Amino acid sequence: MNYYSLNKQSPKVDFKQATIAGQAPDKGLYFPETIPQLDKDFIDNIEQYSNEEIAFKVIKPYIGNAIPDEALKRIVADTVNFNIPLVPIIKGISSLELFHGPTLAFKDIGARFMSRCLGYFLKGNEKKVTVLVATSGDTGGAVANGFYNVEGVEVVVLYPSKKVSAVQEAQIATLGKNIHALEVDGTFDDCQQMVKQAFTDAELNEKLFLTSANSINVARWLPQQFYYFFAYKQWKQTHKNAPVICVPSGNFGNICAGILAHTSGLPVEHFIAACNANKVVPDYLLTEKYEPKPSVATISNAMDVGNPSNFVRILEIFHNEFGSLKNKLSSYSISDAATKQAIKDVYTLHNYLLDPHGAVGYIALKNYLDNNLLKEGFILETAHPVKFNPAIIDILGENILVQKEQALLLNGTKQSTFMPNDYSRLKEILLAK
Ligand SMILES: *Cc1c(COP(=O)(O)O)cnc(C)c1O
Repeated sequence: MNYYSLNKQSPKVDFKQATIAGQAPDKGLYFPETIPQLDKDFIDNIEQYSNEEIAFKVIKPYIGNAIPDEALKRIVADTVNFNIPLVPIIKGISSLELFHGPTLAFKDIGARFMSRCLGYFLKGNEKKVTVLVATSGDTGGAVANGFYNVEGVEVVVLYPSKKVSAVQEAQIATLGKNIHALEVDGTFDDCQQMVKQAFTDAELNEKLFLTSANSINVARWLPQQFYYFFAYKQWKQTHKNAPVICVPSGNFGNICAGILAHTSGLPVEHFIAACNANKVVPDYLLTEKYEPKPSVATISNAMDVGNPSNFVRILEIFHNEFGSLKNKLSSYSISDAATKQAIKDVYTLHNYLLDPHGAVGYIALKNYLDNNLLKEGFILETAHPVKFNPAIIDILGENILVQKEQALLLNGTKQSTFMPNDYSRLKEILLAK
């Protein structure tokens, strides 16, 4: 399989080159030259396959010859070795729990797959690779955990001091070894800005082999298709009709993977992109005008994105036809007040604790189903609520997750380096390693 740049100004590359580069030289996102079609027989009999077998079948055409089957099977098995249950919340709405991985968020899947692919490609390389990433919370933990102990790779994570939760900080800053946590006296945007500057610093890039692990990397994006198939395997046991799938969305990588899976043959009735106050896509579907905006802060902060980087891939799947896109995708913007109310109501009435991102998804799906009475579906519950425990305590008025949170915080001591919001300091640290 080859990948082309959506900016169309760069040469085509294979999976290995796309994974190592992350972004094309013309700054475009890589996109597969063809979208594979899965046999109908496989979809109809999906319950007869293990999750490892499903994941291998789905990803193999995208890898081509870049990784031999035996190695790819090991990578896939390692990526999906935790539970991904589909749990009913109320009649018509279930929750696909993507938070049973090591850092309790769906980003574990993409980060684990990418780290193992990169580890495979770099085996025996003389020059060490430095993965540099800025995080507002979940990405840093998933990337740090995924690359922990991977040979030939050093990871540097920048996170904003006092702006990530205790659990998130523990996941970034207590690992040590090849994982270096930098606690920045600034905001997420400051962290992001310094990372961007590092990638364009010629002197630095001559001395170090820098790469990013953000969600546009094909090795993080493509494996996110896996759990849509795992969900369908469970859905099919109790439903005749295809599901409506609602995805809490920020950079739109997760939902784009679902739409890709559907294009390959996975039955899906309709997709819903659930957004918070950052509503570029809901507005686009209303007006056909795509207008990026600065992001605004909400309680579902992993979705505080004002210019979703993966949306261009969704447009590409639909060949930029607004009508067919609108037929398959709806999008809602949900306020913080409604999100808090939903967390409270669903917990007290249905005994299910949503995290703020899942709650945005729940309301969006409920809105859609209220207008489409015969349909049923599920949300992607993208993180465990304990990662956002300060918000949960505030909403419920009590700390129902106290034990789980303490257990997560007990092991390991913080080993981050505190630094000012100053690029020259970052450069010094990177060069000293
Ligand atoms: C990253 C993240 C999202 C948004 O996913 P995208 O692929 O960027 O749309 C939603 N929820 C949680 C908990 C996340 O960490």
